[in-house]
Amino acid sequence: MSDVASILRTNVSRVRERVAAAAHRSGRDPGDVVLIAVTKYHGAEIADAIVQAGVHDIGENRLQVAKPKFASMTTKPTRHFIGPLQTNKVKQVLELFDVVHSVDRIELALEINKRAAQLGRNVPCFAQVNVSGEASKGGFEPNDLPGALEEIAAQCPNIVVRGLMTMAPESANPDNARPHFARLRQLLEQARKAGHDICSLSMGMSGDFEVAIEEGATHVRIGSALYEGLEA
Ligand SMILES: *Cc1c(COP(=O)(O)O)cnc(C)c1O
Repeated sequence: MSDVASILRTNVSRVRERVAAAAHRSGRDPGDVVLIAVTKYHGAEIADAIVQAGVHDIGENRLQVAKPKFASMTTKPTRHFIGPLQTNKVKQVLELFDVVHSVDRIELALEINKRAAQLGRNVPCFAQVNVSGEASKGGFEPNDLPGALEEIAAQCPNIVVRGLMTMAPESANPDNARPHFARLRQLLEQARKAGHDICSLSMGMSGDFEVAIEEGATHVRIGSALYEGLEA
């Protein structure tokens, strides 16, 4: 385990350096960017080692995978749910996770609100937006977002919308993601002008997080870049 731990520490510090450099390039404070380590590729031991390497936030995209992993973990990071979410899984997701990044339809928001009320808590959420328009991606259409935010604000007192989330199309060239991230930022500004008190942007993965930070990301969700040099 000590080899693994030292590889992970090195990878975490490299990623943090890249985060800081991207923040500085755009005149931002690196402390304003939350690094979420996506631990979906590995088990509890590696997830614990990542937390011990100084990452306080982890992301998982599947309840069935996360549940036993969390039960075996000894560390207590902030847990972000980042995957597609069926309404019949909401109760369990809220019992296990602190933040939901993938609120992509009103029906889901209503269910999260209902379950959150039953649990007596307010749940921080991100509204996922399908900026690229790819059929394979979830999320509100950009044109539907203003109405959706109004509806959530009016009907979901137990949801605290923190911001917007998106995924850029896969591409070998990170610069291809830039217009999608810029568009999400524009949508956030539009929502703020409409009176919504939201300020976070969850965007950027291993292949494109530097561009995302240059375009205003406050939360980057990074998996593979943290595990380079480890056997899968
Ligand atoms: C897997 C995943 C990531 C991390 O992807 P990497 O390319 O491994 O960094 C980020 N966001 C979501 C929603 C994911 O499912």
